[in-house]
Amino acid sequence: MTAVRRWPVHPAPAPGEALSSWLRRIAVRYDLHPEDLVADLGFWPGRAAGLDTCPPERLAHELSKRTGVDVQRIRRMSLSGWSPWLIEQTEPDPGMFAKYTRHFSVLLPEGKRRVREIYPWMPWCPTRPAVRACPHCIATTTPPHPYQLLWLLPLTLSCPVHGCLLERWTKSASYFAGWERRPPTPRPVPATLLAMDTRTWQAMATGRVQLPGQQVHAGTWFRLMRTIIDELGTPLTECRTAGRMIMWVWKEAGYPGRLGPLKWQPHEGYSIDSQLRNLEATATAIQLLESNALIGRGPDSAFFRAASNARVEGPYKGS
Ligand SMILES: [Zn+2]
Repeated sequence: MTAVRRWPVHPAPAPGEALSSWLRRIAVRYDLHPEDLVADLGFWPGRAAGLDTCPPERLAHELSKRTGVDVQRIRRMSLSGWSPWLIEQTEPDPGMFAKYTRHFSVLLPEGKRRVREIYPWMPWCPTRPAVRACPHCIATTTPPHPYQLLWLLPLTLSCPVHGCLLERWTKSASYFAGWERRPPTPRPVPATLLAMDTRTWQAMATGRVQLPGQQVHAGTWFRLMRTIIDELGTPLTECRTAGRMIMWVWKEAGYPGRLGPLKWQPHEGYSIDSQLRNLEATATAIQLLESNALIGRGPDSAFFRAASNARVEGPYKGS
C-alpha cells in the first residue's frame, strides 16, 4: 500500500456530495484505493463501508486536517452529520422508531397506530442500499463522477435542479461508465413529487421549510414526511374506519392498492421499488391535504393548512 501523509491537492467536495464519493475522487487523484485513504487516516479500512451513514466521529476531524475543508461540511457528507435534523441521534436506541414516527399524527388520529419497537433502526438509512442518480448531473461532471448523499437514501425521488427523476444505477455508486456510453433518457418529474422533493432540498440547504401557513424547522419536515409514510403503511386492521381514506390516497397516487410485501416493515427495510412507491404516495397525500381534497384525521394535518390553523411545531422549533 502506498500512503500519502498530506493531500495538498484535492478536489473540492461538490454540493451535497456523499463522503464515499469525495474520498474516492481524492483517491483517484493520488492513484490510490479509497480504503488506502481511510487506513492512512488511522482507521480500519473495513469501516469504509459505513462512510455515508455513521463514520467514526474522528474521521471528519482527520480529513479536515488533511484537506483544510471545514469539519462541519465534512460531517454533513454522511447521514450522521444530519443529527438531530434528519436523524434523531447517531446511536440507535429501542425507542427511536416510536419517537421519530409517532411524535406527529397527520392522516390517522393520534394514538391509533400500534406501538412498535424496532432495533436497530435509523430513519432513512436503508437496510438494502440502492443507488440512484440524476442523468443530467452525471452527464455534466467528469469521471470519477461525484454522487450525492441524497441519492443513496429513500428520501427523495428527483433532482430539483434538473427537474427529472433519479434513475436506478445497479452497479457501484463510484462507477458510472455505463451511463457515459449509454445514458438513460431523463424523465420529467411530476409536479406533486417535485413539490415534496423541493422542500426536502430546501430543508437540507437552509434548515427551514415553507409549509402553507408557516415556515418549519427541517427536523419537523422530515418527521412529518416519515409520519405520513408510516401512516400510509399502517396495516388496515389498525386504521379501522380510516382504512378507506388510506386506500384512496394510494389510488390517487396511481396504485390500485398498497403493493409490496404483506409483512409489515419499516420504510427503510423495504426494497427500493416499495420505498419509491411510499414516497410517491406521501407526496400525493401532502398535495391532497394542501388542496383540501383530503382532511387528515390527525391534529398535525394542520401543518398543511393555511396560517389561521397553523400547528405549533413542538421540540424542533427554532435554530
Ligand atoms: Zn441533476
